[in-house]
Amino acid sequence: MTPSGVPPILVRLRHRPQVAGLVVPWITARTQDGRHRFGTVDAVRADQALHRHWCQICGQPLPDRFVFAMRDRDLTRSIAPEAPMHPECFHYSITACPMLAGRMDHYRASGHADVFAGTGIVLGDPAGRRPGQAAEPWNAVWAHDYTLITDPHAHLSAALLLPDQILRVRPITGPAEPTDPNEPPHSKGVSA
Ligand SMILES: [Zn+2]
Repeated sequence: MTPSGVPPILVRLRHRPQVAGLVVPWITARTQDGRHRFGTVDAVRADQALHRHWCQICGQPLPDRFVFAMRDRDLTRSIAPEAPMHPECFHYSITACPMLAGRMDHYRASGHADVFAGTGIVLGDPAGRRPGQAAEPWNAVWAHDYTLITDPHAHLSAALLLPDQILRVRPITGPAEPTDPNEPPHSKGVSA
């Protein structure tokens, strides 16, 4: 992290455009006049990344082991709506992305559909569930493979993670209330 709070750019990401010193992910939507909006997804590129096994941040082929950023409700279904990342691209993302880094309490109050109206850009999350909703806990899900499916809810390509394809799951951000580090998980209500 530099003194300005902007993380240094990885060599792998130097080919990507930047906005305010932050790398624009490969799947981020772009308006016709070339502007990027963080948090918006180009659904065509998101689909291509999943089909081609490309990293959603750098747009390059994935290594043998990669990382998904998954919300709790996605993890419950074992379905990742967005392509995974190189481990180093993931680490850059959780440093640079305010949502993943836990620095944003809520999604932006309004969506970006107005910005992209008439541009031909297809945004992800067409149901528009994200804007204004409380931010959810995110998990880092390490995997070595995934199964390409069509998400039965969103009707978009998604990655189904079978149990033997998952290597490790770690929370990225904790719950809203700070936890006592001396208290083991799930110990509340259990009498000694
Ligand atoms: Zn990458």
